[in-house]
Amino acid sequence: MLESARMAIDSTYLDYAASTPVDPRVLQAMLPFFNERFGNPSSVHRFGQVAEAALEDSRERIAEAFRCRPSEVIFTSGGTESDNLAVRGAARAERKRRKAGHILTTPVEHPAVLNACRHLADLDDFELELLPVDSYGRVTPDAVRAALRHDTALVSVVYANNEIGSVNPIAEIAAVCRAAEVPFHTDAVQAAAHFPIDVAALGIDLLSIGAHKIYGPKGIGALICRTGVELIPVQRGGSQESDRRAGTVNVPLVVGLAHAVTVSGQRRHEEASRLRTLRDRLIDGVLGIPGATLTGHPDDRLPNHASFVLEGIDGNRLLAALDLAGFACSSGSACKSGNPEPSTVLLAIGIPPDLALGSLRVTLGRPTSDDEVDRFISAAPSIVRALRAHAAALP
Ligand SMILES: *Cc1c(COP(=O)(O)O)cnc(C)c1O
Repeated sequence: MLESARMAIDSTYLDYAASTPVDPRVLQAMLPFFNERFGNPSSVHRFGQVAEAALEDSRERIAEAFRCRPSEVIFTSGGTESDNLAVRGAARAERKRRKAGHILTTPVEHPAVLNACRHLADLDDFELELLPVDSYGRVTPDAVRAALRHDTALVSVVYANNEIGSVNPIAEIAAVCRAAEVPFHTDAVQAAAHFPIDVAALGIDLLSIGAHKIYGPKGIGALICRTGVELIPVQRGGSQESDRRAGTVNVPLVVGLAHAVTVSGQRRHEEASRLRTLRDRLIDGVLGIPGATLTGHPDDRLPNHASFVLEGIDGNRLLAALDLAGFACSSGSACKSGNPEPSTVLLAIGIPPDLALGSLRVTLGRPTSDDEVDRFISAAPSIVRALRAHAAALP
């Protein structure tokens, strides 16, 4: 076995927006499908039938949770692929159908959406327009209404922001798009862990989810695509997933995704309110540090999500110092630390570049205890003070 696989990690994990551990119930449900029940769901024989039954049962579980039809669930390799399939698939289908070549999204999207849109603009001559966001990184329905054109092919707005936690008014934005008959996509990879999402009631045409942000395995996700919304597939091959996503479906991971969705739905309300209380205690604690500011909306944010900028602090040094002290946090941006560029999300909400370099994201999860939050709050101020003293002592 690899040394790294045996090593216990002696640190407090406070980075649940980056990834979550697989829930033991999810792991148990997946295990038989790696070996005993390994068949290809497309095969005619009994091995295939067993795999296919698991695949369709998983599809039904997900459809039930998101209040859609099983035929509207497309399995993908994760949040990134779901976003790419939604953006590329719907934009290209709308161009083919009615020559629409205009894409509306926001400057605060996850790179999976933003870079897929940029790629379409660079290589396929789509026109990309970024919607204005407020100082919390939220989009208003009026901004969407004002920017929609007769040739808009797709609107994509993140449900809840991974970096700053703010939640968008998704139902209202979806209603504006529906009235204009333009497909509406939302990236709900973060939101799905915390909010019940009824795609029909919310009026969402395309919704991306990923398992490893909701206590499921990495490398699996789904795109929910409302009946009647056309998609041109991104990868070609076999006719799996009703011709919308070629390739043998990863049955064990699909079973894991479906169980992660089911488990997330249980006690969701109690868990969200527990996390909200802990989050607010953590926010109050960090805001006691001089020169600390909350980023994102104070109330309309993910229940587990706290994010800040700190004056006179290099965010990467802060993460390293916190890690040494036994706390695993993040700067919030998807990029690895070591990238000295300020986050484009923070710049988009009007934070000056040097302040944006001092960003910190602390995200809580199911295993997070009161004690872990208390220990973080008592350790953080002196770590920040030491870093500032060190920076001031430099020539
Ligand atoms: C993590 C994340 C993604 C990417 O999902 P993967 O499954 O890691 O590819 C996309 N969007 C948001 C908002 C995320 O937090």
